[in-house]
Amino acid sequence: MSQQLSWEMLQSMVQSQSIEQLSMQQLNELFHAEKEMIPFLPDSVCQIDPRNGELIVYNSTRARRPHDAGHPDASPAIDEKPCVICQGKTTGVVDVAPLSQGATFINKNLFPIIYPLQNILEEYRQQPLYPDPAHIGRVSYGFHFLQWTSSQHDQDWHTLSLNDGLIVLQRLAALENKLLYESEGLMPPSEMPPPRKLTHGFVSMIKNYGRLAGGSLAHGHQQIGYTNIMPSRFYNNWCFAERHDGECFTHYLLQENPVELRVRDYGPAILIVPYFMRRPYDMLLVVKDTSRQYLHELTDVEMRAVTQGIQDAMRALLRIMPKLGREPAFNMTVNNGPGAGLYLEFLAHTQEIGGFEQLGLWVCQESPVNAAAYLREALL
Ligand SMILES: [Zn+2]
Repeated sequence: MSQQLSWEMLQSMVQSQSIEQLSMQQLNELFHAEKEMIPFLPDSVCQIDPRNGELIVYNSTRARRPHDAGHPDASPAIDEKPCVICQGKTTGVVDVAPLSQGATFINKNLFPIIYPLQNILEEYRQQPLYPDPAHIGRVSYGFHFLQWTSSQHDQDWHTLSLNDGLIVLQRLAALENKLLYESEGLMPPSEMPPPRKLTHGFVSMIKNYGRLAGGSLAHGHQQIGYTNIMPSRFYNNWCFAERHDGECFTHYLLQENPVELRVRDYGPAILIVPYFMRRPYDMLLVVKDTSRQYLHELTDVEMRAVTQGIQDAMRALLRIMPKLGREPAFNMTVNNGPGAGLYLEFLAHTQEIGGFEQLGLWVCQESPVNAAAYLREALL
């Protein structure tokens, strides 16, 4: 990469040094001040598949993204083009923290899936799923952030030191904390009914790595969607606990997942292959204290264990996938909120999704026991 984002250039993009310093109202104003975002705003409508509760949000402008394949300006591979982040061609920064080299920072997604609409009716702010008998769609609103793991183009979790990785995770947790606790009146309660805690809205944290897993920029990053609507996985985690007399999913998993499917134990967290692995090398990183619901609730020791798990999962996938003849690509998701406990999921793009999978019949080309053994070997 010819150009790296310098500290000076990064500082010139900073609107707030830390997310804690901003009120939700200021954050709202900063989103609305990003005029370059306006041509790419989402439709702000959500539909629900009545068969399984999965949510669909629409953004008919996203097909115009110039770095997407198929667009006339798009060149063949994401890592061959000049990086817009290294060039500083991005939105204002709302949180920045120095690493031993460069910095990690959070800014606004220029191509948001969700946007802070103004003048939303009060009744729509009260509950995530208000009635929609005419199927015109429910209003979806919120904030879409990006966390750049490092200002240095070739750095990501797997190349950072543990201490630097910990800082990245801590900043992600700080954003989660800010959003959940300061959005009363803006967002519906996170739990219906009745809230155990005074949290509002839903924080979805994901990472797409590699073109085949939806990563549209090579510069390492996480995406954070803060929404009034509850993704169906969060709902399913909550339903799991309801069906199991209050036992959360991670408690079940720690009891039931066979010992031979462990990849590595970090003390307060453990990396495992789930016995129900859908795709070769899928992994779960589970926080052992099952009373934890959110990243920001973790102690420093737990944070450190989770950071190690993220780094190892990524290192293992990046070592194994080329040996399978696959371009490295995976999704990482953070499962937080009621009923989940707290766990991260790593979904490796090791097989395509075919018709059987679309019927809910997953055909997996590797056994969980073999996958766990290969993953352990990859981390030696
Ligand atoms: Zn870059």
